[in-house]
Amino acid sequence: MNNIVAIVGRPNVGKSTLFNRLIQRREAIVDSVSGVTRDRNYGKSEWNGKEFSVIDTGGYVRGSDDVFEGEIRKQVELAIDEADVIIFVVDVEEGITPMDETVAKLLRKVTKPVLLAVNKVDNAMREKDAVEFYNLGLGEYYTFASISGSGTGDLLDALIEAFPEKPVVEVKEDLPRFAVVGRPNAGKSSFINALIGQDRYIVTDIAGTTRDAIDTKFDRFGFEFNLVDTAGIRRKAKVKEDLEFYSVMRSVRAIEHADICILVIDATRGFEGQDQSIFWLAEKNRKGVVILVNKWDLVEKDTMSSRDYEAKIRKELMPFTDVPILFVSALTKQRLLKALETTVQVFENRKQRISTSKFNEYMLKVIESYPPPAMKGKYVKIKYCMQLPTPTPQFVFFANLPQYVKEPYKRYLENKIRENWDFAGVPIDIYIREK
Ligand code: GDP
Repeated sequence: MNNIVAIVGRPNVGKSTLFNRLIQRREAIVDSVSGVTRDRNYGKSEWNGKEFSVIDTGGYVRGSDDVFEGEIRKQVELAIDEADVIIFVVDVEEGITPMDETVAKLLRKVTKPVLLAVNKVDNAMREKDAVEFYNLGLGEYYTFASISGSGTGDLLDALIEAFPEKPVVEVKEDLPRFAVVGRPNAGKSSFINALIGQDRYIVTDIAGTTRDAIDTKFDRFGFEFNLVDTAGIRRKAKVKEDLEFYSVMRSVRAIEHADICILVIDATRGFEGQDQSIFWLAEKNRKGVVILVNKWDLVEKDTMSSRDYEAKIRKELMPFTDVPILFVSALTKQRLLKALETTVQVFENRKQRISTSKFNEYMLKVIESYPPPAMKGKYVKIKYCMQLPTPTPQFVFFANLPQYVKEPYKRYLENKIRENWDFAGVPIDIYIREK
């Protein structure tokens, strides 16, 4: 699991510029390939070979100066709960403002590492001015200029340095890890309770450091699995998190920690933007996904059939539509066993390894019957392909002119793979390489 870094600070100090700078280099590579739209508030970064995830907590309240203290408090709470390291950005031009003090006060109580980053320091004079930030009581600070990027190297070195040591026994056993995610009130806790009962089936709480003790092991209907962050879900169910941004970002940690995400949506509300964002987070992290349309007991079946409903959702999932969608009710316990079975199946799908000979045998025929279109009068030939030994399904096709194999053809290959093997609920990567 990646370390998670949260950037906090009042509006207009340069949080998003720093965020963009951090995720830029990597996103430029990854997302131009996959064509996935880039999120404004969440991304992956890498420094000295260490990958980490970044959350810009201010994503929601950008630009306005009259942000309520309550809003800032929420941002900082999000960072404290979800991140491993917090970067607190301040602005040397403005000096210490009352809002900076509010943030500092919250952060002084935190045991997680906090890096104080003083922005807009682009000359020696301002380097001197920065000294005043010692008064925030957070110790050492790092000066940088987010626009030019100067100083970010030192900040990143300090960041990597501050990451907590991962416990050695991170995965003790090869049990599936499921995260139940979804917007507030979708029925996540009800689903967990219906499935598990009132904690009666808890086998063990996996002990670890506090930050990693988020798995609970269960044995239910003959399936053994870990549920990620069940405590968090119960706790958060009590917190009113009205803004979409927060509830989405609150699922980052659970999603990154899980193998499979069980996305619970509220049937009475449909598949909304928030559901989409959470789905997208799971897909971006290459996790398996099962969608449960919960509260199906409340839907008038003559006005909306499950088939119509399903079709509507699939449209929203484009282009990753090969995802199981089940209609359940945590209240009446309808199809809960099926939901669990499906989730286990997606876990198996994600682990599956296709032998190179079988893969070639099938795929080379598929390619022969519909070869990549010729480009600039040149024929593209694919002679060999295989699944890579990676934790999530990735396939490589060796071609004489890989640059001529475009996205639509890759999609064709993916569809053919999905037709012949069960990868339901599992994102797939296709690479074309020079042979
Ligand atoms: P969470 O915030 O996602 O954990 O949602 P909760 O589990 O707290 O559920 C929110 C509300 O929806 C509660 O009042 C539940 O009783 C209700 N609820 C949850 N699942 C169902 C369901 O399948 N059918 C009906 N009718 N109500 C449900």
